[in-house]
Amino acid sequence: MTPLKAGSTIGILGGGQLGRMLASSAAQLGFDVSIYCPEDDCPAARVAASHTFGQYNDPAALLAWAQSCDVVTYEFENVPVTAAEALIAAGITVRPGAKPLEVSQDRLTEKAFLRECGIPTADFAAVNAPDDIADPIKAFGGKGILKTCRDGYDGKGQVRLEEGDDYVAACKALANAPSILEAFVPFELEVSVIVARDAVGDTLCYDLPRNEHVNGILRRSVVPSNLAEDVVKNACEAAEKLAHALEYVGVLALEFFVMKDGSLMANEFAPRVHNSGHWTPEACATGQFEQHIRAVVGWPLGPVTRFHDVEMLNLLGEEAMVPPEVLSADGVLTLYGKREAKAGRKMGHLVRRRV
Ligand code: AMP
Repeated sequence: MTPLKAGSTIGILGGGQLGRMLASSAAQLGFDVSIYCPEDDCPAARVAASHTFGQYNDPAALLAWAQSCDVVTYEFENVPVTAAEALIAAGITVRPGAKPLEVSQDRLTEKAFLRECGIPTADFAAVNAPDDIADPIKAFGGKGILKTCRDGYDGKGQVRLEEGDDYVAACKALANAPSILEAFVPFELEVSVIVARDAVGDTLCYDLPRNEHVNGILRRSVVPSNLAEDVVKNACEAAEKLAHALEYVGVLALEFFVMKDGSLMANEFAPRVHNSGHWTPEACATGQFEQHIRAVVGWPLGPVTRFHDVEMLNLLGEEAMVPPEVLSADGVLTLYGKREAKAGRKMGHLVRRRV
């Protein structure tokens, strides 16, 4: 595909806050965005040029929509692989492609792929029945986390386990879905690499954010991470390796556990812009949303120079619904326009300069 000109149409599969921020950045670069999603009143559609209401498993509707776009991308990783493949087979350019979806949708496939790339991960084992737990949990030193292979996010679909726990109850809590048992990692801190790869294979990594989770949900990202230079280099090299192996075009996030000795273990990756990169538009020469748009339209990447130290605070549930407090907060506020504030739901974020 030749690089697109301003005025072209970018199709985005998915209508959440990431799609909303991608659409705003695309508009700033002169593109029209067309959102395809199954919700009527989604945050992304309300800032996009157009919105097609449809299901992800409706190939005819998807194709009809995609044919009105010059390139198609996605803002969430659970787009059915078959849907992306069908569009590609019909000659639609889909960036970053079907492979990143296939690999990231299943935690077992994902961990195996990371290891094939030479990227260390926690030890893991497949669990299809409670009897599959006793041997590996022993081998992992008696502590593990059982996670559903598919559809888990923000700490959902996970159970912490110790040797001798009730494995039947643990599997039941996950609806007996195909699962993965991971060794419990006694990490010192968590970081992520936000890496961009363009259509000719050039890559750029942002400075690493240090990420703090509460109840499995990202609470705060702080930059700089203050990690040693060689640790940062290892993390970035791993993320670039992953992006090349997936022939990725766009922005992806690779999450790591950092051990006391500075060694790294990858936890998972997201084939999309990422919550831990929400500080980049305010603190860097090119934000992650603009960067993703640049990559998918075939433009060169923009510089990722960071101008100041920064932190990003997620606003969850009712936190985003108290305007006086939020509006008087020091920093740049982004609200996602969600109509209903459920507990733990990501409603917005605040980016603060750190001095
Ligand atoms: P995930 O859904 O895999 O991103 O997990 C959510 C959070 O749970 C991570 O950010 C960690 O804080 C924690 N966690 C996940 N996997 C492990 C593990 N194997 N060992 C220790 N903590 C973990």
